[in-house]
Amino acid sequence: MVKICSFSKWSIIKKMTGKKAIMVLGPPGSGKGTQAKLIAEKLDFFHFITSSIGKDYIASHDDPETKKQMENYKKGLLYDPSWLMRVLKEKTEEVLRNNKGIVYDGSPRTLPEAKFLYKLLSNLIGKKNILIIEINVGDEELKKRLAKRLICSKNSSHVFIRSEKLKPGDPCPEGDGVLSERDLDKPELFETRLAEYRNRTLPGLDFLKKMHPVITINGEQTIEEVQNDISEALQTFIAV
Ligand SMILES: [Zn+2]
Repeated sequence: MVKICSFSKWSIIKKMTGKKAIMVLGPPGSGKGTQAKLIAEKLDFFHFITSSIGKDYIASHDDPETKKQMENYKKGLLYDPSWLMRVLKEKTEEVLRNNKGIVYDGSPRTLPEAKFLYKLLSNLIGKKNILIIEINVGDEELKKRLAKRLICSKNSSHVFIRSEKLKPGDPCPEGDGVLSERDLDKPELFETRLAEYRNRTLPGLDFLKKMHPVITINGEQTIEEVQNDISEALQTFIAV
């Protein structure tokens, strides 16, 4: 029953015309990557993983500003906003030319980035085609989750919870890479990432909340429940 219901909600959303952009925001470990991937699959939108887009950009560009960014990434710090804006603009324009929609996973992560991306998208597709989702998870739950998280060596959106059946070194259940604990999830880096989220990402989210309706979802539920809440909220929001 639940499946049929949520499937039909997605089909209604899919029938909407006009290019759309969806931003999915939340702290590290909130499941925003998993949710962004599922939304992109359900709607046939481009899944814009900012960290991967950034890495590809680094691999194909040689200027000093670009080179500096890899060091930031390895330390668990964010890309420099000015550099990232250049990447966001180039890639967003390209993606929107070739796709009917885009789901951002990992953007915006700072206040300047939020202002920039919001203005860029308002100009490209109009405010009414921008959807912003916030996934809320408390700190204690985040710590518990990250301690148990395994990630695929081939695809960073393949994230699994460690269990009796899934251990580091096992093949990825999606059939491509090998699972391991992610360096970025180690406690000392996690604290850095959480502090970066509070100090740099939340001001961006506060800015967006002043400019635009933001859909807030309770992230302390199963993946399916969160998906269902998102599809319901999107449907209501789009229908308005
Ligand atoms: Zn995989």
